[in-house]
Amino acid sequence: MPRYDYRCENCGHQFEAKHGFNDPTPACPNCEAHNVQRLITTMPAVKKGMSADAGHGGTASKEQLRSKWAEETPKLREKLVSKLGEDMVSKNLPELKSSSDA
Ligand SMILES: [Zn+2]
Repeated sequence: MPRYDYRCENCGHQFEAKHGFNDPTPACPNCEAHNVQRLITTMPAVKKGMSADAGHGGTASKEQLRSKWAEETPKLREKLVSKLGEDMVSKNLPELKSSSDA
């Protein structure tokens, strides 16, 4: 049976109780009040939140790189074409496309 941590709303006493998912909320062992609150202290919830934050940050920086690359590539190509010529750039740097059909 799973164990849960509870805090009594009446007297503030914290206690641990074993009971099934569908069983009624246990009474406070200190004052026998039934208005107790379940404390959520499980680790998986914390881990899930951290990994979600990391994933979001990674996506944002990747998108920033993509837009930066899309902005810089035509300028770079233009420079290379003026130095080396159109044929040279097309042959050696096919990834630098002049049109936006990438
Ligand atoms: Zn109590």
